[in-house]
Amino acid sequence: MADEKFVGTPRKVTTHVNQNEDLMFEKSSAGKKGYRLAELDVPAVDAASLLGAAKRTDGLGVMPELSEIEIVRHFTRLSTWNYAIDLGMYPLGSCTMKYNPRINEAVARLEGLAEAHPYQPESLSQGALGIMKILSEALIEITGMDAITLQPAAGAQGEFTGILLARAYHTANGNPRKKIIVPDSAHGTNPATAVICGYEVANLKSNALGMVDLAELERMVDEDTAALMLTNPSTIGVFESDIHKIADILHAKGALLYMDGANMNALVGKTRPGDFGVDVMHLNLHKTFSTPHGGGGPGSGPVACKKHLEPFLPKPVVVTKADGSLALDFDRPQTVGRVRAWYGNFGMFIRALAYILANGPDGLRLTTEDAVLNANYIRAKLLDTFELPFKSPSLHEVVFSDKLQAKNGVKTGDMGKRLIDYGFHAYTVSFPLVVSGAMMIEPTESESREELDLLIDALKQIAREAEENPELVQSAPHTTRLQRLDETTAARKPVLRWKGPAEDGLTLGTAAKEW
Ligand SMILES: *Cc1c(COP(=O)(O)O)cnc(C)c1O
Repeated sequence: MADEKFVGTPRKVTTHVNQNEDLMFEKSSAGKKGYRLAELDVPAVDAASLLGAAKRTDGLGVMPELSEIEIVRHFTRLSTWNYAIDLGMYPLGSCTMKYNPRINEAVARLEGLAEAHPYQPESLSQGALGIMKILSEALIEITGMDAITLQPAAGAQGEFTGILLARAYHTANGNPRKKIIVPDSAHGTNPATAVICGYEVANLKSNALGMVDLAELERMVDEDTAALMLTNPSTIGVFESDIHKIADILHAKGALLYMDGANMNALVGKTRPGDFGVDVMHLNLHKTFSTPHGGGGPGSGPVACKKHLEPFLPKPVVVTKADGSLALDFDRPQTVGRVRAWYGNFGMFIRALAYILANGPDGLRLTTEDAVLNANYIRAKLLDTFELPFKSPSLHEVVFSDKLQAKNGVKTGDMGKRLIDYGFHAYTVSFPLVVSGAMMIEPTESESREELDLLIDALKQIAREAEENPELVQSAPHTTRLQRLDETTAARKPVLRWKGPAEDGLTLGTAAKEW
């Protein structure tokens, strides 16, 4: 498509398919209904008399009244404003935005699983408990750890749980200790976790390869150190090749090694944290094990640990009784308690297990190899286009910087936005913080070589545009419904709710146009 909005000729979509759409409140007309109920076969009761004092008196404002097809079209149109993994690639680094296989969804929708109630007696929940048990065993095998909890709802809550285990362990040994060491390349959730668990954060500088500086670590670890929180492979996609030495340095002082396992997509089937000295770690089922991500569904962040931390795991844990049946054990005197209602996000367990079983050990190993191959393909193809700040071998993601383009005033954020015009989601912009102007790309194994070539093409064209017409990139995106949003105001003063005329004196529709 030749278009003045593009220096070259993008092979992928340009104009996004979307339609203007009013709010439901604006489309509403009194008396319309999206449902029809059967005739009552019992005497009608006045709702007001049933509700009594519970009836709301502060005025609900206007409730939208629409027909079924209007509602279907409304939400379908809105869905076209979004980018989705089912539309194209998400090169977001660190996020592992892999495809969510449909078989996972099919299994999760089986009636006996989808309709199961958490209050069902254990005797009627053997299948659900079995899923938790088999998934636990699979994850223990994959990580090389001894025990696991599936309770945490996301990676960050997994970190919280893991550090609670570390704290409980040290406390049981007489002293919770004071600080947690976090490398400067860490995911932002790591220092946040340490602080919320009552620890001071000691910042560990990376060496020139972007890895842990062993001499510096040795100087920092003391009897007050509770743990080191280490992302491996790191946020620049580099494997900490001295990980066993790191573990030895910590263990010599009685400190623990916490591994942020969000990047396990680079390790599954190749190496196991339990074999290289990790004491406790979390997994992101919504990253490594393909369960939906972000707006697509709740997460799941299981925490696996070694034997010495097992007594402190959240309760309940799934156990096998003498008669072979499964049960939930609440009798855990040293537990850190519950971290989540029920047993965690059960629907995600089903999907992750379906993924693990559908791939099998060889298939999982292959996903790891393909994820690494894809990242290295992108690295090799873009090496001449963008600056590569750390030259160490990449695993599943690669981090470039905007250094070359910034000379023309084009920043990583501009190029990320410009990528939207080429039909892709942006890569991860300005993270990790150790790289100034970072452009972090993680293709995952889901992408075909053809799709990778399209992304490479688009990025090369954007780099050319940065040379020839920087303004075009700086003012991107050009093909979306809305262009540059005020991200600061959106974060600081989000408008999360439509206000009806009763609340702010505006007429219908004005409120929508306000923002
Ligand atoms: C995604 C991620 C996390 C946080 O996981 P959430 O599920 O988003 O809470 C932590 N560490 C790393 C390295 C990550 O990539």
